[in-house]
Parts: sequence; C-alpha cells; structure tokens
Amino acid sequence: MAYTITDACLKCGTCADTCPLGIITEGDDKYVIDAEQCVECGSCAAACPVEAIELQG
Ligand code: SF4
Ligand code: SF4
Repeated sequence: MAYTITDACLKCGTCADTCPLGIITEGDDKYVIDAEQCVECGSCAAACPVEAIELQG
C-alpha cells in the first residue's frame, strides 16, 4: 500500500514541501510519490488542496 497522486494534481508543490522524507518529486504531468519509500504518514494527502492524493493498495 502507498499513497498515489492522481491526475487531479495541479502541480502546486504543496505535498512535496510537506513530505517529511522528501520523496515527492515533480513529474511531467503531475507530482509523483516514491511508493517504495513512502511510510504512509498521510501528511501529503492532508495538505493537498484538491484531494489528489489517495491511499491505494
Ligand atoms: S498538493 Fe496536490 S495538487 Fe499540489 S502538487 Fe501535490 S498532489 Fe498535486
Ligand atoms: S504519506 Fe507521508 S511519507 Fe508518504 S509521500 Fe505522503 S507525506 Fe511522504
């Protein structure tokens, strides 16, 4: 399980600034979470203004 960023992402960068591990980076069309390093703290999902970050198993 890991948090995943959906196509709703506006590329605002807030989640990347919020992640304590710094594992969210800017991709071509949206920001991307390194699923192998994510500890599922939920900080990014809570910070996203458009609820584009979902927990998927
Ligand atoms: S906070 Fe939400 S909208 Fe902003 S870059 Fe992250 S996933 Fe995209
Ligand atoms: S759930 Fe936590 S560790 Fe995982 S990407 Fe979001 S802020 Fe980073």
